[in-house]
Amino acid sequence: MTHFTVLSLFPEMFTALTEHGISSRAIKQQQLSLTVVNPRSFTEDRHRTVDDRPYGGGPGMLMLLEPLCKALQAAQSQVLARSAAPAKVVYLSPQGTVFNQAKAQQLASLDEVILIAGRYEGIDQRFIDHWVDEEISLGDYVVSGGELPAMMVIDAAARCIPGVLGHAQSAAEDSFFAGLLDHPQYTRPEVFRWDEQDYPVPEVLLGGNHQAIRRWRLQQAIGQTWLKRPDLLANKTLTDEESALLAAFKQALHTSE
Ligand code: SAM
Repeated sequence: MTHFTVLSLFPEMFTALTEHGISSRAIKQQQLSLTVVNPRSFTEDRHRTVDDRPYGGGPGMLMLLEPLCKALQAAQSQVLARSAAPAKVVYLSPQGTVFNQAKAQQLASLDEVILIAGRYEGIDQRFIDHWVDEEISLGDYVVSGGELPAMMVIDAAARCIPGVLGHAQSAAEDSFFAGLLDHPQYTRPEVFRWDEQDYPVPEVLLGGNHQAIRRWRLQQAIGQTWLKRPDLLANKTLTDEESALLAAFKQALHTSE
């Protein structure tokens, strides 16, 4: 069970996780827990101010230190009431290390994670320097707040928690789990007729020969990774079987050209 606590000015956004799909089921089954703490609840002025202008000038506003520090302190004391050690503190930031499946698995192995969702032009650097353990980015682009990135991180990590996916939907089948993209998938009908054309499912998947299906799926996973994400193969040592399947995949592609 991993407890995620998110510091966010928009707690209601997280109903996307708590009320829908696999993450919602995981929360109900107590495989995952999600608490949102709003830094605005820790303000004392009439306007409940959480932001201010940056020193030195420039556009936009920054999240203030004090509400963030008070919210983090409250979150960590909840953590310490149930765990022996404080939570790892992660700031979602375009300046962080780019998130991937390995990081999702690593976070899923922790008991407690606190995610900081920034807003405006970001947060006061002193908070990052003194209270953040790690910065994680969702990619080389900027979105308006850390809530969507935090939800992506929680959803990806939840899929790695043992028992969250049923046996039939094992995370081991997902893209990136074994350093490869997922193989293509098909569902009914066997032949889809549209606009006087037939679109059949690959023959091998219909025959019930489990060994042939396994080899075809592995070959497709390696082949599609080679076509779409060759960078992933550069970091992977292929087995003899995988090398032979990739060579046959390339040959078949060459012949069909
Ligand atoms: N001025 C900041 C910069 O250029 O680094 C961007 C601030 S952004 C508009 C507001 C918040 O969205 C950030 O504090 C961060 O929490 C979140 N955010 C934006 N892009 C992100 C990304 N690629 N990955 C993770 N979080 C992101």
